Amino acid sequence: MSKTLFEKIIAREIPAAIVYEDESVLAFRDIHPAAPTHVLIVPKKAIPRIAETAVDEQQLLGHLMLKAAAVAAQLGLDKTGYRLVINNGKDGGETVPHLHCHILGGRHLAWPPG
Ligand code: 5GP
Repeated sequence: MSKTLFEKIIAREIPAAIVYEDESVLAFRDIHPAAPTHVLIVPKKAIPRIAETAVDEQQLLGHLMLKAAAVAAQLGLDKTGYRLVINNGKDGGETVPHLHCHILGGRHLAWPPG
């Protein structure tokens, strides 16, 4: 199967501004930022979307969330607040079929989202 865009970023085949990496996740700046700070954190394992996660991925998903909060703090967003977003499927606005969590901050974010 061909690699997803984010697998290519993980493999350093496509450049990205990486802000955090460990053995199971990678965080990098979104190429089209929707806020002053907009980072994507992804599992290195190519899970297509949150709806297709399995029980044995519980630890990885917990790690992803803990590291999303840690990266937000690393970028100074914990002082003012931030939003974590996972888009799932067409109506959710998913465009890259590799699970990713958006970390958005640096301005007030409206609610509900459009
Ligand atoms: P989704 O819409 O699937 O939730 O989010 C995909 C995100 O990937 C979008 O915010 C989009 O701007 C970002 N993106 C698309 N292509 C690239 C790329 O080549 N590099 C980076 N860093 N981000 C990308």
